[in-house]
Amino acid sequence: NQSLHALDPEIAAAVDAELHRQQTTLEMIASENFAPVAVMEAQGSVLTNKYAEGYPGRRYYGGCEHVDVVEQIAIDRIKELFGAEHANVQPHSGAQANAAAMFALIQPGDTILGLNLAHGGHLTHGMKINFSGKLYNVVAYHVDEKTGQVDMAEVERLAKEHQPKLIIAGWSAYPRQLDFAAFRRVADEVGALLMVDMAHFAGLVAAGLHPSPVPYADVVTTTTHKTLGGPRGGVILSKAEHAKKINSAVFPGQQGGPLEHVIAAKAVAFKVAASEDFKERQRRTLEGAKILAERLLRADTVEAGVSVLSGGTDVHLVLVDLRNSELDGQQAEDRLHEVGITVNRNAVPNDPRPPMVTSGLRIGTPALATRGFQAEDFREVADVIAEALLPGFDEAKATALKARVTALAAKFPLYPEL
Ligand code: PLP
Repeated sequence: NQSLHALDPEIAAAVDAELHRQQTTLEMIASENFAPVAVMEAQGSVLTNKYAEGYPGRRYYGGCEHVDVVEQIAIDRIKELFGAEHANVQPHSGAQANAAAMFALIQPGDTILGLNLAHGGHLTHGMKINFSGKLYNVVAYHVDEKTGQVDMAEVERLAKEHQPKLIIAGWSAYPRQLDFAAFRRVADEVGALLMVDMAHFAGLVAAGLHPSPVPYADVVTTTTHKTLGGPRGGVILSKAEHAKKINSAVFPGQQGGPLEHVIAAKAVAFKVAASEDFKERQRRTLEGAKILAERLLRADTVEAGVSVLSGGTDVHLVLVDLRNSELDGQQAEDRLHEVGITVNRNAVPNDPRPPMVTSGLRIGTPALATRGFQAEDFREVADVIAEALLPGFDEAKATALKARVTALAAKFPLYPEL
């Protein structure tokens, strides 16, 4: 029973290097966050040793009395957090939550209507080589070219024309709130079920800072590691009438043994998400994104061809449009990486460049808000980002901007106990 450092120095060194990277750079990938130490402690616990196929009280293995307690607490907490009638906390990931939810609700060959990937949708909402694109007949809706917002008139038109069995609302790269009541109306008009994938904005919903899809959707899926700030994983919430089908679609439909150590970590994260501190953090997350959008819409950046899709943000991320900039998405991502800020390049709607290059950036504030950033710190990082994207970037400027990033990172020590 040696320590990791003693048993496997190669892996230990890479883990240490990753900790150092997280501590010394600024994480602005919109889908990332920093899990509390207590969450990681639960995830690294002896629960990883336990097989527990089935559900609390109805397992196919002996010795499940303690993991039953853990899983039931996780279920109760997330039902309470979102006011859901049913919760399944076993999906290993967001993609598996979506696969299981779709497996439960519709049949292969049925038509689904989801947001186009290049317009902000997720792979599992109908991308061609994803399971969703292979198993189902996919029709995609889009954002409006002028407003950058989902075009509900198009959603309604496509729904009437194609009669989908399932409509999916939700996104991976979209800076505004969706109108869940409008999606429900369209679903009812054509007799479709409505699934909302709130993976990105679940933390905002939990904090009461974003409308909840739970009253409107038949099924709501989420990841637990984005704005929600927990371990990597997935969850499915649903109306009681779908509970049995959802549970059997997860196990035995999609998965074998649940990851009870991850479920324990999810439970801890749900406890945190019900706290006042968590609400305050989500408030700063939104404030930070607004500060960033406003900075990138100032005259100097706009003149350099940098702009913000939809003209702002209502959520935890900003989509930067570089179609008129001298930089493409890859170059902009590299430039920010050079000064110590991690973001990801992202296709913009009707992107003239290929998906590996793109003409946009997706920049999010959840991880920095978790780190403790206040408005003044977000103003500083927004300035650094704007300056890095302006013409005239050279080695001296890179060094100066990197020093400002290092100072911000040092101001908010991450995981000092590690
Ligand atoms: N759903 C949405 C909206 C997402 O953005 C993502 C991840 O990026 C997922 C599902 C998939 O989650 P995972 O990476 O855990 O499979």
